[in-house]
Amino acid sequence: MTTALHPGSFDPPTLGHLDLVMRGRKVFDRLHVVVGVNSRKAPLFSAGERVDLFRASLKLAGIMDVEVHAWEGLTVEIARQLGASVMLRGLRQVGDFEAEQSIALMNRRLAPEIETVYLPCREEHLGLTSTLVRDIARMGGDVSPFVPAPVAQALRDRFKGKT
Ligand code: ADP
Repeated sequence: MTTALHPGSFDPPTLGHLDLVMRGRKVFDRLHVVVGVNSRKAPLFSAGERVDLFRASLKLAGIMDVEVHAWEGLTVEIARQLGASVMLRGLRQVGDFEAEQSIALMNRRLAPEIETVYLPCREEHLGLTSTLVRDIARMGGDVSPFVPAPVAQALRDRFKGKT
């Protein structure tokens, strides 16, 4: 039985993240999503909001067996607590690889028993980032092709009257 963890900022969750979770579920017996609390970043949505948005998006997609947690601390630590032996991450363009490799190598130094596994994203999600989604929403653009419906609604509410 292999338990995997999908960690990230998810500020906000996008269809790319959701797709990764759906595909990850088919590969691993159990999958947990972990929303990272990074005190160096000022997120648009609080960790609690990001957890709620991910949960609502999973529910809407009919995915009932993936738990979502907020976590402030080392990712390898929550992986150990949840009994996960795999970190699942997505790869978009080559730029992702460089950053991802540093994280994976460092995580291996911290927790040699945990492996990082990458899934390539879908072609249609190649240019999709949470940062771009936030920017488009902030300027009043329609983000509904890029994010689950609960996230699109939350972004509209957040920027209502500000564009
Ligand atoms: P982080 O700040 O930890 O990079 P993100 O929320 O940006 O967190 O991404 C979390 C994970 O989801 C990363 O592995 C990232 O590569 C992956 N990811 C992000 N966007 C997409 C996408 N459009 N398609 C597939 N995977 C993605």
